Amino acid sequence: MNARELERAYALEVFPKRDLTIVRGEGACVWDDEGRRYIDCVGGIGVASIGHANPAVAEALAEQARVLVSCPGIFYNDVRARLLAELVSIAPAGLTRAFLCNSGAEAVEAAIKFARLATGRAGVVSAMRGFHGRTLGALSATHKKEYREPFEPLVPGFSFVPFNHVEKLRAAVGADTAAVIIEPVQGEGGVRPASRDYLSAARRICDEAGAVLVFDEIQTGFCRTGRMFACDRYGVAPDVLCLAKAIAGGVPLGAVLAHERLQPPPGRHGTTFGGNPLASAAALAAIRFMRDERLDDRAEALGARFSERFARRQSARVRAVRQVGLMIGVELRERCRPYLGALAERGVLALPAGTTVIRLLPPLVITEAQIDEVADTLTEVLAD
Ligand SMILES: *Cc1c(COP(=O)(O)O)cnc(C)c1O
Repeated sequence: MNARELERAYALEVFPKRDLTIVRGEGACVWDDEGRRYIDCVGGIGVASIGHANPAVAEALAEQARVLVSCPGIFYNDVRARLLAELVSIAPAGLTRAFLCNSGAEAVEAAIKFARLATGRAGVVSAMRGFHGRTLGALSATHKKEYREPFEPLVPGFSFVPFNHVEKLRAAVGADTAAVIIEPVQGEGGVRPASRDYLSAARRICDEAGAVLVFDEIQTGFCRTGRMFACDRYGVAPDVLCLAKAIAGGVPLGAVLAHERLQPPPGRHGTTFGGNPLASAAALAAIRFMRDERLDDRAEALGARFSERFARRQSARVRAVRQVGLMIGVELRERCRPYLGALAERGVLALPAGTTVIRLLPPLVITEAQIDEVADTLTEVLAD
């Protein structure tokens, strides 16, 4: 049986599947089992920022695999120690502590638990259209009804406010609020950037209420938006930053960067795999690559190049283009699904965000010629 048949026969499937078997990647491209090449603007859902099969990460993994793969957090470890120091060195001002886990949802879980411990309060306020993960705590902060309702009752204490609405946020945050959690640019919700006023107001509102401000930069982190972190663009530092996706070149790893007042008492939280030497070595190599290659500047320049080229022949099907670095959302006046298929037929893989937004999260190592090809192919399939 081929991969498609095996997965159909044996997977406890949770995804609506696309009919493609991907077997290999290099840089911004992936290949299917019939040898067809695609420019990968799915990018592992924003994971493959330093490119598929990045040699620096491959080398670091191979080397570390021969030395030490597992080391629980009850011991000190040289590689984990270096990664913690590296993360704090690139963190927004004031975030001087890091906790390592294995995924985005786990980072959000930890952030919520740390905020509840630090404040002694239970309330968590998050934004409509926000996405924070699929585990029960992270799901409780996730807005989409279809994701939430089948699993209710969820964790008590969670509430939602409209995104980018300062007064509604102010009204929702009070003496029982442990945390406010926001994506500086909503990803799943349709590539929607927060306004500068909104994030600054969120900072002030949390300070006044004694609540913890959490930015979920699981998708926007690590150069995606043209800065190391999207909050660097806004000049607003949170108390807690949740990270994952691109952090380790595709190897599963999550992280929480936090102000030191979020330090929990030992024994209250834990993880078996979090911060293992293998993932830590991959992350060190990936972050070094991002810095050496200035992927922040590259995302800024190539994102602008895409927008400029795509805007030249705008289709009447397009309602809006939202682009921050190489985080790109093309909102249509109709459903986006058929166009994702048409793009794939022409060698470009893209994601939906909701029902009408085509989302592009290409590896940040994508070349100028490739981003031009993406813009031109998208123009072609949307041509009226
Ligand atoms: C992907 C994502 C998550 C969840 O990450 P997982 O690793 O899938 O658990 C949470 N928040 C945001 C903003 C994301 O993009």
